Amino acid sequence: MTTIFGRIIKKELPAEVVFENDRFLAIKDIYPIAPVHLLIMPKKEFKNLQAMQEEDLKLFPELIEIAQKLAEEFDVEEGYRLLTNNGESAGQTILHLHFHLIGGRPLGAMG
Ligand code: AMP
Repeated sequence: MTTIFGRIIKKELPAEVVFENDRFLAIKDIYPIAPVHLLIMPKKEFKNLQAMQEEDLKLFPELIEIAQKLAEEFDVEEGYRLLTNNGESAGQTILHLHFHLIGGRPLGAMG
């Protein structure tokens, strides 16, 4: 199923792109909850973590590397949150795997 993020990846919809290569896209969240709120996503479509097969897990080292670089670039390397809402009951609204990179203010404890 094509999602908003699938359409952004195909350039059918606009987004503020902060990183892109053949495997990943990172954009600014359109409704940021903190001064820095980025979304890092694989271009390959997975609904969420549960849809990934073992061979897909090799995407993760690069995902973490991208998060590290973006955290430095956006000056939040001293403190940020990297999370994915996995499933609708966890708050996932767009069914294309993505990681929120959030920082730039004190984030407090997880609710
Ligand atoms: P989630 O609720 O974890 O699925 O996260 C979806 C995120 O996508 C939310 O934080 C939204 O603010 C964000 N979002 C929705 N539409 C867009 C869009 N067109 N461009 C950028 N971010 C978006």
